[in-house]
Amino acid sequence: MKTKKNISKFIVLGLDGACPDIFEGKLSQGLMPNLKRLKEQGCWGDNIPFPSAVTPGNWTSIATGSKPSTHGISDFTMHTVGQPLDEHYDVFTKDRNNLAEFAWDAYSRRGLKTATIAYPGSLPQTEKKHLAIGNSGMPAENADPYTIAPSRALTAGSPNPVGPYGWQEHEKIDLQSTNDELGIAGFESRYFIDIRIKALNPGFKGEHGTRLYLGTLQQKVAGVLCCMNEKILLGIQEWTPFLDFSFSNETEIIGQCRMRITTADLEKGNLLLYISTVYPKYYFSTNSADTDGLRDKLGPYNDNLPISRFLMGWLDDQALSDEFRLQGVWEARAAVELVSNLGYRGVFAKWHAFDKFYHFFMQKIDPAAPGYCTDEYARYEKLHDMLIKTADEMIGIVLDGMDKETTLVVISDHGLMASRKAVWVNRFLARHGYISHTEEGGLDVVDWKKTRAFVSAFMLLNVNLKGRDPDGIVEPGEEYEALKKELIELLRGWKDPENNTHVMSAVFDPGKDGIFYGLGNDRDGDIRYFTTPGYTLYRSTAVNGKELLTNTFGPYLGDHGSCIPSTRFSRGGEVGAFYISGKGIRHRDGKMQIFPCDVIPTLLQIAGEKPLANQEGAVIHKCLDCADIP
Ligand SMILES: [Zn+2]
Repeated sequence: MKTKKNISKFIVLGLDGACPDIFEGKLSQGLMPNLKRLKEQGCWGDNIPFPSAVTPGNWTSIATGSKPSTHGISDFTMHTVGQPLDEHYDVFTKDRNNLAEFAWDAYSRRGLKTATIAYPGSLPQTEKKHLAIGNSGMPAENADPYTIAPSRALTAGSPNPVGPYGWQEHEKIDLQSTNDELGIAGFESRYFIDIRIKALNPGFKGEHGTRLYLGTLQQKVAGVLCCMNEKILLGIQEWTPFLDFSFSNETEIIGQCRMRITTADLEKGNLLLYISTVYPKYYFSTNSADTDGLRDKLGPYNDNLPISRFLMGWLDDQALSDEFRLQGVWEARAAVELVSNLGYRGVFAKWHAFDKFYHFFMQKIDPAAPGYCTDEYARYEKLHDMLIKTADEMIGIVLDGMDKETTLVVISDHGLMASRKAVWVNRFLARHGYISHTEEGGLDVVDWKKTRAFVSAFMLLNVNLKGRDPDGIVEPGEEYEALKKELIELLRGWKDPENNTHVMSAVFDPGKDGIFYGLGNDRDGDIRYFTTPGYTLYRSTAVNGKELLTNTFGPYLGDHGSCIPSTRFSRGGEVGAFYISGKGIRHRDGKMQIFPCDVIPTLLQIAGEKPLANQEGAVIHKCLDCADIP
């Protein structure tokens, strides 16, 4: 008898920042019919992140099956042991940051193809059979290796969009009067502007001209874009099609963008025109032989979710939703194509929409946030629902498109929640004499010879240890141990004078007690802490400034990463979502709780594949349908 070859495949659809309780609420309101279907076929529950409950480390756990104590990423940025204590580095790329083996590298070494889409740890690509599509998974806009030019806004007249930090990046232009006849029935031109489409990011060259006419069509304001011998008629808040322009890096590269008139008023001479990111039509992966066909079949791909542009008022609500949907739907369709038609055994895709939305707008949709205003709720909840519907559409695309050999995991790396107050730990250490510093020209200058402890990344407090740190002054041994104890007690006792609440909910030595949280690597710092829900570390390691607890300000009114990872708070929490169905998976009613490192062991078990080199998570036996498993 022949044994059937196991050709199990998987799709990990990563929804960064999605909150399980919000998903369940929207599901019961009928807004997520596809998620409902997935849940009815499979299993579901919470994904309890590892600390800190932030992006790079938790996606790494999902793709390596290991904990931060093994893969070495336990904060949004990390500090290299032995480097100056105020230095920390980005951990979205693979080069020096990840100590564990990724699934795509292991699969490639076993002769199997896998793909990643905008997934942390995917770049630089090092194994031949790993196809890395898009950027490194960093939630930055306009900065990845493929973007040719950032998105822009051109304004005339009174629109003067300003972002929450006083950002003002739009370009002022003058409307030129005209009565040019364009040969479009009923269109009467009044103004025109000339638009230069330029390569702005390093490595790219090229510049092209287009002209936008503004006028009226049947008494309504309209535009006509003249581009490459084409005339495109455009209503207000309507997209042009994607426009091709030729650029060069070393070879010729076609870049694409689209435009939208956000507002126009001919009587007042006002215009706000949004021009999307210029992104390559084809070259946005490590192997365009496979992605060229995807592009032709699925349409444009783009990494940039322009939330900062929305905050500055460049985009209307529908436009933001459209820009987010473009990437999400493409990822889902590409994942299906890759595993069903292109011979890929696994796809890890990540869509950053929820993380971006909740960071900036949790205060608009959660009454627990400061600055919540009932008048704005309806508008922002509608925008929120647009993202929810896109996520559900993505799930539906995969459920409908995947074959019987495929397992689908829908997962978030963490949730987000409202933040009421920001906590400044380095200021607290300075106040208590552990950091000695002066302020020179608005900059902190730390006197390392008189500094005994310092927060190197958001959650990572280090003692300034002799023999380890460049200007270490604390003696190893007894003095070091005593200082750690002293700092732990001090931080445990820290109270908010306004309400007598403890600021920290837990403070511990990760070398001794970190194992409970999956910590304990040398890189994890000397002391770790979790804030009480409602308090955030506000992603700052600043020393200067007097206030130890401040209001959250600017856009970061929703946050994540500083509380105990199982925290739920008001609408959100640190907890992530988890759903699984398809090959090898049974239906189960009750909610389960998993850790990020359990995903890969489960998928490899179904595929009959050997574990990864550093895998330490558990197979989620409760959700396995044993009949399907080899
Ligand atoms: Zn994240």
